Amino acid sequence: MRPDEQPHTIRQLGGEFALIERIAQGIGKESDAASSLRVGIGDDAAVLRVSEGKVCIVTTDLLFEDVHFRLDWTDPYSLGWKAVAVNLSDIAAMGAEPTFAFISIALPKGTTVEFVDALYQGMRDIGARFGSVIAGGDTNTSPDRMVINVAQLGEADEEKVILRSRAVPGDLILATGTLGDSAAGLALLRQRGRAEAEAVSLGSVRAHLVPVPRIAEARAGVRAGGITAMMDISDGLCGDLAKLCQSSGVGATIHAAMVPVGSGARRAATALPGSDPLQWALSGGEDYELLFSASPERTEAVRSAIIEATGTPVTIVGSIREGEGVLIDNGNGTLTPPPSGSGWDHFTDDAAA
Ligand code: ADP
Ligand code: MG
Repeated sequence: MRPDEQPHTIRQLGGEFALIERIAQGIGKESDAASSLRVGIGDDAAVLRVSEGKVCIVTTDLLFEDVHFRLDWTDPYSLGWKAVAVNLSDIAAMGAEPTFAFISIALPKGTTVEFVDALYQGMRDIGARFGSVIAGGDTNTSPDRMVINVAQLGEADEEKVILRSRAVPGDLILATGTLGDSAAGLALLRQRGRAEAEAVSLGSVRAHLVPVPRIAEARAGVRAGGITAMMDISDGLCGDLAKLCQSSGVGATIHAAMVPVGSGARRAATALPGSDPLQWALSGGEDYELLFSASPERTEAVRSAIIEATGTPVTIVGSIREGEGVLIDNGNGTLTPPPSGSGWDHFTDDAAA
């Protein structure tokens, strides 16, 4: 495209995130309600002031059959669990507690009652585990593929909310759990189908199909004090860290050797020639782990508080620096940009299925 040409397709505009930036331009000042909007577009969830010192947290995610899920790889219970899990993960990323969920579904006419029962059982079970109740939604038919939208609400004390925008140079960067298992699970499902994928690495398949949002980990970390910025890893470590950096006006360096590559990803890689578990961990996506920065003097306290409360490992993966963008320290004296294509984009990447 020539520089003087107007972009027409979303891909030409720059993809999903360029589109969201365009939508966001000028939004948020339409009415008096805007004065209660603490955080609008641009973080994991919106922050709305509901009373003195209290905020309501709102996030929503749309899952489209054959883009986000394939019915021959998943099952209705797992699908319901995951549809809610990805939203709870954004609530956790704000340091908030989940409260209510609204579920909207568009179902092809032939969908069975048993399917919907199992879908909602998955949604109810994860809600019960993390203290959230389904409070409404909408039902429709779809001419072809199934669509599931979850809007998840949460609550927090206003001063405890953790944004993406407060990381400062010198902070350390940490991630909960391990990375890459979900991407490995997806690769296995794609290439081998569910039964064989589970035989190679059940952990990877489960990481992909039934992720567990890090609500308790976020709670423990926020309580310890010292987290400066936080988000969840949905689009891949490097791509999501780049967003945190952009919001905070800083750069970051990741140490490749410190990245906690999941054991499922390592096992899957032995079965899938040409694959690299570190690449899955750096840019695979759908890990739904927490990615956060903390001041060096508070890092150990935050880390041990999370580990003690939950048993979930927490790893230092790098540090925040002046400048912009993410660099990877390969440990041999070289600093390289993240692998190209880091971070999922619906308009520039191929569909997940
Ligand atoms: P996450 O991966 O954490 O769910 P997204 O990348 O989906 O976050 O969204 C980033 C931000 O953009 C959020 O604040 C979200 O509410 C906002 N957003 C995404 N799509 C739209 C849209 N179509 N209209 C308005 N805001 C949007
Ligand atoms: Mg998020």
